Amino acid sequence: MPPVLAYIGIGSNRCDPANQVRRALQALATLPASRLTTHSPWYRTAPVGGPPGQPDYLNAVAAVETTLSPDALLAALQAMENAQGRVRAERWGPRTLDLDLLLYGSIIRDDPYLTLPHPRLHQRAFVLYPLHDIAPDLTIPGQGKLTALLGNCSFQSIMRLDIANEPVTITPPNPLPMEPYLNPPS
Ligand code: ADP
Ligand code: MG
Repeated sequence: MPPVLAYIGIGSNRCDPANQVRRALQALATLPASRLTTHSPWYRTAPVGGPPGQPDYLNAVAAVETTLSPDALLAALQAMENAQGRVRAERWGPRTLDLDLLLYGSIIRDDPYLTLPHPRLHQRAFVLYPLHDIAPDLTIPGQGKLTALLGNCSFQSIMRLDIANEPVTITPPNPLPMEPYLNPPS
């Protein structure tokens, strides 16, 4: 089977999020039957949903070429979440690490274990902006062009951190300065 390009959303708002994201990228770089091709800059984002008062998130998106099946890839991502101390308490509550399978090639699939594309991808600025950084021409199956989707969520509060967009960068981002990034790129 030829490799498929998959996109993975990374998020953390507990227990040193920069370290969690860095470790997640390291883990993705060692995923079997896969190659981490690039990742986005990191973003600081306000929580969407979940309990009030939880800390801001650190988010990024990674691209992985893989010959793992979608189910095997999701299982590997969940094992990484567990290895980084993920406890599933309340829905959308604070978490050490959340890894979402955003896209697996252009596959569309809808079942409770795995929905593709990720069911909330098209509404979330913290996914769409970093995805746009690494795949500006992407079309989301069933949802349309990524650039068009960005315009629907420009009101959500996110800031891109000022780090170089290098492949497999595993150094922590400098927390300052931060660049407000609230409008969709033209
Ligand atoms: P969320 O990411 O929405 O906060 P969780 O990470 O707790 O929620 O995931 C809840 C469930 O969503 C998981 O048990 C998983 O099987 C399911 N799921 C369905 N589609 C996907 C997907 N594309 N990526 C990740 N998990 C998914
Ligand atoms: Mg998740």
